[in-house]
Amino acid sequence: MAEDKIPTRNENFSEWYNQVVLKSEMADYAPVRGCMVVRPYGWALWENIQQSLDRRFKATGHVNAAFPLLIPMSFLEKEKEHVEGFSPELAVVTIGGGEKLEEPLVIRPTSETIIGTMYSKWIKSYRDLPVLINQWGNVVRWEMRTRLFLRTLEFYWQEGHTAHSSHDEAEEETLRILKIYTNFAIDDAAVPVIPGKKSDSEKFAGALRSYTIEAMMGDTRALQSGTSHNLGQNFAKAFNIQYLDQTNQLQYCWTTSWGLSTRFIGAIIMTHGDDQGLILPPKIAPIQVVIVPIFKNDAEKSLVMPVVEKLRAALADFRIKVDERSDLTPGFKFNDWELRGVPLRIEVGPKDVEKGTIMVARRNFPGKAGKSSISQHQIEGQVAEILTDIHAELHDRAVAFRDAHIFDPKDYGELKEVVQNGWAFSWWCGDPECENKIKEDTKATTRCIPLEQPGGTGACIYCGKPAKEKVYFSRAY
Ligand SMILES: [Zn+2]
Repeated sequence: MAEDKIPTRNENFSEWYNQVVLKSEMADYAPVRGCMVVRPYGWALWENIQQSLDRRFKATGHVNAAFPLLIPMSFLEKEKEHVEGFSPELAVVTIGGGEKLEEPLVIRPTSETIIGTMYSKWIKSYRDLPVLINQWGNVVRWEMRTRLFLRTLEFYWQEGHTAHSSHDEAEEETLRILKIYTNFAIDDAAVPVIPGKKSDSEKFAGALRSYTIEAMMGDTRALQSGTSHNLGQNFAKAFNIQYLDQTNQLQYCWTTSWGLSTRFIGAIIMTHGDDQGLILPPKIAPIQVVIVPIFKNDAEKSLVMPVVEKLRAALADFRIKVDERSDLTPGFKFNDWELRGVPLRIEVGPKDVEKGTIMVARRNFPGKAGKSSISQHQIEGQVAEILTDIHAELHDRAVAFRDAHIFDPKDYGELKEVVQNGWAFSWWCGDPECENKIKEDTKATTRCIPLEQPGGTGACIYCGKPAKEKVYFSRAY
């Protein structure tokens, strides 16, 4: 099998990404254009992401359910903005069981319509509120330009859908989820996201307002990594989601929806990866520690393997793998696990056995720089500490990279330059006209109006009119 070399990130970031995803066996191309197969290693990462989020959703009162994949076409037509936003990318089923269907069915691009329909049936009184349901599933959007994990026809995600009795309660829920996404990204994936509000032109089709977490990738482009929408009463009115309040008056509910998808795997890869391949954050890495035994003959093997077995037992609380492949050299194995981004590698050779030590290699510092010799004693505590350090190092490095590529241009001319290789953090008057012009000129879009604002007022970077908020502009995936 011919091994074509992975380009460096500087040579060709886009091809580096594709090759790393394929060669680390995270995903592969499916026979249908734009579809992906998530391979076991990629799915194991997704399962850890799922657990991390699911734990947080449940701790805040949410429950899981499953709604159908097929939705009557007419449901999508009930909310005008929603159908306009989604109709260009719908996959439609017109034949079932060999017969033309009376009403075409769409494969869900998102589930507001079917879930709204069910909520209108289930919700009767203020006593039924709030409804806090999440579902883990897949959706289909007929995308034209696709990339593994980042944009595929079918992808996996969670979508939460909640119903409330007031605007403020729905807004509180929308922001609660944004906080959950932010905490998950930073605390478990070491991806330093910026939470903020979407501009009107970038918001979800049919929402009152949308919030997002935005991350800077290794090529400085932004990736929208999770979104939370306050749907106001738009969907409640379209789907008749009503309840009797405490004074027996019929009221429309206030609803929210929020999602984070397998796209986040792309965020992890492009935030942390280096020229050697993936670097996976320890808390969600499918394999946290790989042990590579090193021996040249049977005599050395009989020295080394009992120590490896002891380590395997001592590290049972971690997700570990012992690389026992006998037909491969240690050097090949090192490269292989580096490509797959395992945060910590332990090497055990005859000399280590003699000295009562082991060699540890941190993935985030490839080569000699990340290697050190540690005692075999109390290995569990030492490994836990190293993994905690790796998480912090990955996070800090990503923050440093991001902050070094966020600029505060003094005028529009400078904005045009900085968005070629970074983000501009600039005052914006809020007029979609200015936003559009900037997009036309530079391909940079408003990523978010961050929740944390510097305060005061400024002049819009495009038109010079007074502006109350600063916004991130950048090119995005
Ligand atoms: Zn303006």
